[in-house]
Amino acid sequence: MNKKELKQFKDQLEQARRKIIGDLDHIERDTLNKSQRDASGDLSGYGFHMADVATDNYDRELNLDLASTEQKLLNDITTALKKIDDGSYGKCESCEEKISVQRLNAMPYARLCIKCKEEEEKKAKKGG
Ligand SMILES: [Zn+2]
Repeated sequence: MNKKELKQFKDQLEQARRKIIGDLDHIERDTLNKSQRDASGDLSGYGFHMADVATDNYDRELNLDLASTEQKLLNDITTALKKIDDGSYGKCESCEEKISVQRLNAMPYARLCIKCKEEEEKKAKKGG
């Protein structure tokens, strides 16, 4: 992989990282706002419906799910950026073969080549 290609992937990764950090910040504030609202209670005292509470809880869980997915992605992106710096970017973590450029274009933070990824998924399925 030449320097120009590497630079392109780096730009992509940094862009994705900024977006995720923004999303996480948003999720965090959203979740925090809801928690504070719950903690302070509904001051009117009459607008309290179980359905609202359930929806809020559901939203929060959804947010937490989303946050952990994004967090994981963020980790992968940070790892990929580190690899660009130390020169090991584009190498499969399992078999150490090169990851195809097409795959990296679709998923610049990929840690495994497509073959190892498929193996991993097969194993995950067997395991339950
Ligand atoms: Zn591999």
